[in-house]
Amino acid sequence: MIAVRPNLYQELAQELAPIFESRADEWDKTRTYCWDNIPHLVDAGLMGMTLPREYGGLGASFHDCVLVIEEIAKACTLTARIVVEANMGGISAIMAYGSKFQKDYCAPIVLAGDKPAICITEPEAGSAATEMQTTARKYGDRYILNGTKHWITGRGVSKLHLVFARVMDDQNNDLGIGGFIVHRDLSQDINPKGFEIRRREHTMGLCGMPEAELHFNDVEIDEAFALEPKSGYHKGFAELMTAYNSQRVGAGTVAMGIAAGALDRAKNYLKSREQFGRPLSEFQGLQWMIADMDTSVHASRLMLHEAARSAETSPTGFPDMNLAARAKLFASEAAIKTVSDALQMFGARGYGDQEPLERMYRDVRMFTIGGGTAQVLRNQIAGQALGMKTPQTRTGYLDQAQTSPFRVVGE
Ligand code: FAD
Repeated sequence: MIAVRPNLYQELAQELAPIFESRADEWDKTRTYCWDNIPHLVDAGLMGMTLPREYGGLGASFHDCVLVIEEIAKACTLTARIVVEANMGGISAIMAYGSKFQKDYCAPIVLAGDKPAICITEPEAGSAATEMQTTARKYGDRYILNGTKHWITGRGVSKLHLVFARVMDDQNNDLGIGGFIVHRDLSQDINPKGFEIRRREHTMGLCGMPEAELHFNDVEIDEAFALEPKSGYHKGFAELMTAYNSQRVGAGTVAMGIAAGALDRAKNYLKSREQFGRPLSEFQGLQWMIADMDTSVHASRLMLHEAARSAETSPTGFPDMNLAARAKLFASEAAIKTVSDALQMFGARGYGDQEPLERMYRDVRMFTIGGGTAQVLRNQIAGQALGMKTPQTRTGYLDQAQTSPFRVVGE
């Protein structure tokens, strides 16, 4: 493992980027996971770089990680997403809220190259994640997991799965939502009994990353693998989801990194391609587009860095929820526009597969959907801005209307 000073993480990623870039189109076209990139990430210490040193990580901050993710996303979106989930997703929740046994168990798996899967979404519970129906029933020292998750990133390639489920006691009382660590042994291709990976989604972008439907049919989990939040299951989902704020910053950074990569390519192309006897870079219409793209990448980067840095002073150790939501919302929407404009500058060449722009355009489209949609993030930001709750269920909304101090008398 290389010991690096924080200002060198970014340089390390820059050194690796050309390796990742060289095969980015291949993973996309063949829809295969970039297994060959994993040893590079492991050797550089980037898988689990944010894990504490006592567990074998580099003890790097989320801000360090964001610097790395941007450099890799410019080159290969797929590899950048792996770095996000090996530092900021399920593993960050386990390292923050798990028992010593769980940390000792999970950290080495990630440091050796695993991209853990975080399993929240269900067919009937997408944006309304707390309406999940997957259950974990307690029997003695075991939990029995039943339910279906879908759109889970890492189908068949992830060993560790952090599965969120509704915890029921033996009297069938609903105790709240907790996380359960399910380990799939890839070396022997063995799933825990009752854990089934079904269909792979056919995605428009990020084609090398398998998305899947997972089924849990009476899967037995030893209680040692139950991630019970400190505040108990009742309020626990909110606590565990603080870890998700880091994943949002990571996802926003991948989007920003794709946009930054597209902008670099567009700037070079404008200087090399001539029309009407002049380089394209001399046309003011295109110069102004570059100015807008440059400004939006810069603004995204500042917001993402601010959100990442907020973890350093926050009581949870994770980025501030509102800063993370704002940064992901802004960066993901801005990136779609920037990549689209970059593609435009290449004309027909951008639309074809001679250039990576068409892949980047398909890849970047995901980031206003996965990890909290743009609309759900707006609900959260609006609630914070207005200083009020923004319940989305019909009953929640009606209850709030009844008690709101702003209610019009006689309504
Ligand atoms: P819905 O919730 O059905 O929403 C449909 C539309 O309605 C959206 O535009 C949404 O913004 C809008 N909408 C819904 N409610 C409101 C509201 N109250 N106000 C305004 N608009 C609203 N999930 C995981 O658990 N783990 C993963 O690893 C994972 N990876 C993913 C990878 C990809 C590539 C994608 C695309 C998704 C992934 N997801 C994952 C699922 C993702 O988190 C969900 O898609 C997302 O939460 C939205 O849920 P949904 O698709 O069911 O849309």
